[in-house]
Amino acid sequence: MRFILQGGTSNGRDYFIDFLNVGQGDALLVRTPHNKVLIDAGPDNSLSYELSNYFWNPFCSFDFGFVTHAHADHYYGFTRIAKLCQPKLITFNDVDQLQTSSQVFNQLLQENKINKTFLGDEYFFDGVRIKILYPRSPQDLNLHHNDLNFNSVVMLLEYGDFEALLLGDAQKETLATINWDDIKSQIKLPLEVIKVAHHGAINGFYLPMYDTLKPLYCVISVGKDNTFGHPNPDVVQQLESSGCTVLRTDVKGTIEMKL
Ligand SMILES: [Zn+2]
Repeated sequence: MRFILQGGTSNGRDYFIDFLNVGQGDALLVRTPHNKVLIDAGPDNSLSYELSNYFWNPFCSFDFGFVTHAHADHYYGFTRIAKLCQPKLITFNDVDQLQTSSQVFNQLLQENKINKTFLGDEYFFDGVRIKILYPRSPQDLNLHHNDLNFNSVVMLLEYGDFEALLLGDAQKETLATINWDDIKSQIKLPLEVIKVAHHGAINGFYLPMYDTLKPLYCVISVGKDNTFGHPNPDVVQQLESSGCTVLRTDVKGTIEMKL
C-alpha cells in the first residue's frame, strides 16, 4: 500500500520524503536527485523490504543516516543496512546506550562514522537543509536516564518553501523547551508537515507547538494493532480539530510526499 501526496513547492524536481511503513516504529527516507538519507530505520528488517521498492540494490544507497534515539523501533533497522552499506555518516547521540549489543555501531564508532548531534548543527545535501533543534547540549542527554524518549533528536528539514518538522519520539516536556515562535519566524508558513512525536502518544503531544505552527499534514508512523495503543485517539482528534490532516502509516501504508 502506498499513498502519494503532492506536497509543498512542486517544482518538478524529484525530491521526496517517504514515511516508510515499517510497522511499529519510525523510518523516513529522503530522496533527492543525488542523495538518499535515512532518518530512523524501523524495528526490524522490514526497512530492507520497503527500500527494495525504491532501489534495485537498497543496501548501498543511502548517504547518511540519523538515529533519533536508542530505542529498537528507531535504530534496529540500521544494524542490517549499515553493515551491508558503507554510509558516510550516522548521527546517533545514544550510541553509548547500546554498549556491546551492536557490533555494527561499534564498528562505525571505530571508523569515526558516528557523530553526536546537537542544537545548531546543520546538514546540507542537494539543496536540502536539516537543522537540529534538540537536544541543546550533551547535558540534555543525561536528564532522564530512565526514558530514552527524552533524548530524541528533533529536526527541521527545509527545501525551498517546503518544511518538515521531524519529532522522533520527543516528549512534550522536551518540546516545551523549544521556542516555537522563534522557529515560526524562521520558516515560510504554512508548515507543510509534522512527523508527530512518539507514534501519536499523549506524552509526545504538545498543543502550543501545533497552535503556533499550524501544520497542514500530521504524519503518524505507527504499527497496525500495536500493543501500545498508539496513536492516542484524543491526540488524533485534537490534531484534526486543529486543522491538520492526519495521515497514518497503519492506515495508508508508506506515505510518499513530493517536496
Ligand atoms: Zn518509537
